[in-house]
Amino acid sequence: MILIIRVAVIFLFPQLTFAFGVIDVVGGEDGSKTTGQAEVWHDRTGELTIEQVGPIYLKGEFKPLNSAGSTGLQPGAFWSHFVLRNVTDKTLTLNIEYVDHQLISLDAYERDSESPVRYRHIAAMAMADAFASREISHNRFVVVVTIPALQSKDMLVKFSSHQAGFVFPAMRIWDPEKLRKTQTSEASIIMFMFGGIFLMSIIALVGAIATRDKIFLAYSVYALTKIIGWCTILGYTHQFIVTEHFHQRYMSIGGALTVFFGVVFARTFLQTRKHTPRIDKVFILMLLVAAVMLVSALFSLTGLAVLSVTIILLLYPVMSVAGIVRWRQGSTDAAVFAAAWTLLVFGLVVQALRDLGLVEHNVINYYWPAVASFVEMLGIMAAMGIKVRRLRLQKDEAEARYTEQLEHSKAELEQQVKERTQELEKAKLEAELEARTDPLTGIYNRRSFFVESGKSLKLAQRKNQPLSLLMFDLDLFKSINDTFGHTMGDEALRIFSRTIKDNLRDCDVWGRLGGEEFALVLNEDKRGTLQTAERLRKEIAGIAIMTPSGELRITASVGVAYLKNEKTIEALISKADDALYQAKNRGRDQIIEHCSA
Ligand code: GH3
Ligand code: MG
Ligand code: MG
Repeated sequence: MILIIRVAVIFLFPQLTFAFGVIDVVGGEDGSKTTGQAEVWHDRTGELTIEQVGPIYLKGEFKPLNSAGSTGLQPGAFWSHFVLRNVTDKTLTLNIEYVDHQLISLDAYERDSESPVRYRHIAAMAMADAFASREISHNRFVVVVTIPALQSKDMLVKFSSHQAGFVFPAMRIWDPEKLRKTQTSEASIIMFMFGGIFLMSIIALVGAIATRDKIFLAYSVYALTKIIGWCTILGYTHQFIVTEHFHQRYMSIGGALTVFFGVVFARTFLQTRKHTPRIDKVFILMLLVAAVMLVSALFSLTGLAVLSVTIILLLYPVMSVAGIVRWRQGSTDAAVFAAAWTLLVFGLVVQALRDLGLVEHNVINYYWPAVASFVEMLGIMAAMGIKVRRLRLQKDEAEARYTEQLEHSKAELEQQVKERTQELEKAKLEAELEARTDPLTGIYNRRSFFVESGKSLKLAQRKNQPLSLLMFDLDLFKSINDTFGHTMGDEALRIFSRTIKDNLRDCDVWGRLGGEEFALVLNEDKRGTLQTAERLRKEIAGIAIMTPSGELRITASVGVAYLKNEKTIEALISKADDALYQAKNRGRDQIIEHCSA
């Protein structure tokens, strides 16, 4: 498998020549040429000196590197031999730059032209050294080599990884000015990317404050740890921030923090605890491993660190899976998350393949993980945007539904109130009517008869119109009750009342004063009154009710009083009552006018 990949890589990147021996330099080198990995030797102890290694080289122990660029995870140090030959007639000054950022220390030696075994120490750099001690201010180790016209430099370089580490025993050859320019543009691009991530972190922080949504805070912290992690791993923290006492473990700490908060963010964003509990268990495992990674980084426990990094890397694709699962469950933003995370996973796979020496170490592979990380942050920002939009739409929808419901219940309530008001109004009218009417006959009761006839009295007095009051008392009603029963008596009272009512005009006031006594107020003079009274008396006498006990007939005695200067209905009633008394005395079923008439 490894062989197939290697063949493929060599096929794809033919410039990666495993050239033996001498490298010709002509000035103006642009970094595309590297010192190669043709002659490499592994010192497992990492403690051999140049005096011991020089003879080893001469014995032919140095062999081509058996990988696409990396030594793989190895202890100790690797030595590389190469010759730089100046084929021009001018003195050339070159910068040779170590291709990777993570190296504990680098020592460069050039052979004395007089002796094949005497070497001069021309550069000594270590990650733990103050950044200012570097001859060339660069985030990677750079050695300055000066070669007189038409001469060669026979070089031995020691790359130390101490207990365990990946070494890429190759160096890019640069014209110093070109290296400086390239470094400037490279740093600009990196700063642009990290500036972008920083901006997203700030925006997310503002979002977190504004919405109190944990997702934003998780993203903000994740973005910050990303900047810290990558800046440290790529050497910028050493170059610009911790310039004095930088330690290799800071890189691992940065990486561990990024992983830890990446998982925290993914858990929050995908809500795995709620929606995919099984995947969430893997996430929790990842958090634990990241914590172990952090601890092993802090205490420089190399073996544990490598183990935990490997586990984490193997578990990283679970994030993409979680995103896809959540997408299948219906959230679009999870799909964008999955895409972004998959990109990152690919970046990390490339890094792993590069570290293991399965793919070449070139600019693209070198920056792919960092760029993938940046694009991942952009992608996740987009996913958050989609999520926020979705949540806002959901909120708007819920609000609309709520408003609609509110309006509906408001209308319902209004309708209920309206109906209730109508009912109350009706009940009130009914109650009023009830209060005004006699329950048996449905005509005015005593109280409302006095009210209504009082009005007629006032009107008649004001307009100086005639007014008369007739008192009716049914004759011998006691015996009617006795003969036909009380119920039939009631019926007779109803028929009597209706018969009179049917013969009246609207302005006449007809009421039951009590028992079988009724009163009638007419706006008529004496003649009209007597005529009406007589007509009514006859109508009454004509009433015949068929009952099981035979035919029920009734008569009434009527006392009449005319308005003169009485002030109240009571006064008129009193006069009519007197007349009625006489009618009774004179034999009943007759009309008698008050004597003052
Ligand atoms: P008179 O001709 O002298 O008026 O004789 P009367 O029997 O009508 O005597 P009175 O006025 O003293 O008696 C009235 C009777 O009317 C007494 C009562 O039994 C009867 N009565 C009063 N109110 C009602 C009623 O609401 N329904 C029925 N069925 N009878 C009533
Ligand atoms: Mg009576
Ligand atoms: Mg009577």
